[in-house]
Amino acid sequence: MTRDYLKKATLTAKSDASEVHETVKSILDDIEAGGDAKALEYAAKFDQYEGNVLLTPEEIEAAIAQVPEKLKADIQFAHDNVRRFAEKQKSTLSNVEMEIEPGFVAGQKAIPVDAAGCYVPGGRYSHIASAIMTVTTAKVAGCRHIAACSPPRPGVGVAPAIVYAAHICGADRILAMGGVQGVAAMTFGLFGLPRANILVGPGNQFVAEAKRILFGRVGIDMIAGPTDSLILADKDADAHIVATDLVSQAEHGYNSPVWLVTDDRALAEKVMEMVPGLIEDLPKLNRDNAFAAWRDYAEVIVCKDREDMAACSDEYAPEHLTVQAADLDWWLDRLTCYGSLFLGEETTVSYGDKSSGTNHVLPTSGAAGYTGGLSVHKYMKIVTWQRTTRDASKRVAESTARISRLEGMEGHARSADVRLAKYFPGENFD
Ligand code: NAD
Repeated sequence: MTRDYLKKATLTAKSDASEVHETVKSILDDIEAGGDAKALEYAAKFDQYEGNVLLTPEEIEAAIAQVPEKLKADIQFAHDNVRRFAEKQKSTLSNVEMEIEPGFVAGQKAIPVDAAGCYVPGGRYSHIASAIMTVTTAKVAGCRHIAACSPPRPGVGVAPAIVYAAHICGADRILAMGGVQGVAAMTFGLFGLPRANILVGPGNQFVAEAKRILFGRVGIDMIAGPTDSLILADKDADAHIVATDLVSQAEHGYNSPVWLVTDDRALAEKVMEMVPGLIEDLPKLNRDNAFAAWRDYAEVIVCKDREDMAACSDEYAPEHLTVQAADLDWWLDRLTCYGSLFLGEETTVSYGDKSSGTNHVLPTSGAAGYTGGLSVHKYMKIVTWQRTTRDASKRVAESTARISRLEGMEGHARSADVRLAKYFPGENFD
C-alpha cells in the first residue's frame, strides 16, 4: 500500500438516478405533447415564473442597462479571451483532401451544426461565465442559430449580467426558462426557436438527465455531474493557497468533491487544519455547500513520490487539475487524464472558470478518462466526401462488388457492376 488516506470520502457523487430519470422523462414527455403551454406550467411550478419567456429586444436592452459598466468591461474581457482561444482551436480544424488512389480523391470538411442550444445554469449562482463559455464557442464555430436559456428568478427574470453576456457573445435568442423545460424548449423548438442540433452547457442533475435522455435526437457536449477538482502539491507548495483553492471549488455544491494529492504529509496536515476556518469565513450559501462537500466528499491522499501522485491523479481523472509542485514541464508531460490543467501556484481554477480563455464546461465524474471539455470542435461535424474519374473507379468497383457478394449484399454489388458495365463495356470482371 503506497497511499495513505488522511481523509476519505464517506459518500460518492452518485445521485438517486432512477428517481431523477422518471421525473425528467415525464416532464419531457409532457412538454413534447403540450408545447409552449406545458413548458410555461413547469416554469411556474419550479421557478415561480410567469413572465415573458423569449426576451424581446427591449427587454434585452433594459437588462443590459442594469449591468454596471465595470462588470460589462470584465465580461467583455472574458469573452475576448474565450473567443480568441476558440478561434485558435478552430484554426486546427482545416479541411483536408487526398488522392487515395490515382484519380480517386477523398476529402474531409468540418461543418458547424446549424442550431446550438446553450444552457446557462442559474439556480444557486448566476453563472455568467457559463453564458460566455457556451455562446462564444458556438459563435466562433459558425452556428447560424444560437439560443441561450437560463432560469428566471420569480418576478425578476434572468439575471441582467447573464442576459448581457449571452447577448454580446452572440446569442440571437435568449429564453427566461431553466431546468428541464429550458432544455425541452431548445430541443423541441418551442417559443419560436429553431430545433437545436446540439445542446451544450452545465446544469444540475435534472438538466444533465434531460440531456442524457434527449441525446440521439439532439447532440450534446457531455453529461456533466457535480464539479470536481484535484490539487497535486509537493513540499514547497503554499498550504494557505492550496487550502483556499480547495475551498473555492468545494463551494460549487454540497456534492462537489475536492481532492488533495501530495507526497508531503506535513503539508497535507497543515492544509487540513486550515480548510475548516476558510469555509467558516464564506457567505452562508457557499459555506453550507463547501462544508458538506468537504465533510462528505473530500479526500486527502499522501503518496510515495511524484510518479505515484501522477498515477493517482490519472485514476481520479478530475475535471479540474492543479499542480502546485516543482518541475511543471514534467507534470504537463506526464499527466494524461483531466478536463483542464492549471500549472503552478500563479494560476488557479477560478481563472479558467471565469475569464482566462480556456473553457469551463468540462468532463466530470471521471469522464476525463475519455473526453475533453467544451471546445469549438464539439459544434463541428467532421464529414467526408469523395469523387473519382471513371478510370480510377475500376479497381474500387471490382473490389466493392466482390466484398459485397461475400457479405451477401447483392444490391451493393450491383451498384458497382452497373458502373463497370457502363464504363468498361465488353470487359469481364468475375
Ligand atoms: P440549474 O440552472 O442547473 O437548475 C435550476 C433549475 O432546476 C430550475 O430552473 C428548475 O427548473 C430545475 N429544478 C429544480 N428543482 C427541480 C425538481 N425538483 N424537479 C425538476 N426540476 C427542478 O442551476 P443549479 O441547480 O444551481 O445547478 C447548477 C449546476 O451547474 C451545479 O451542479 C454546478 O456545479 C454546475 N456547473 C458546472 C459547471 C461546469 O463547468 N462543470 C459550471 C457551472 C455550473
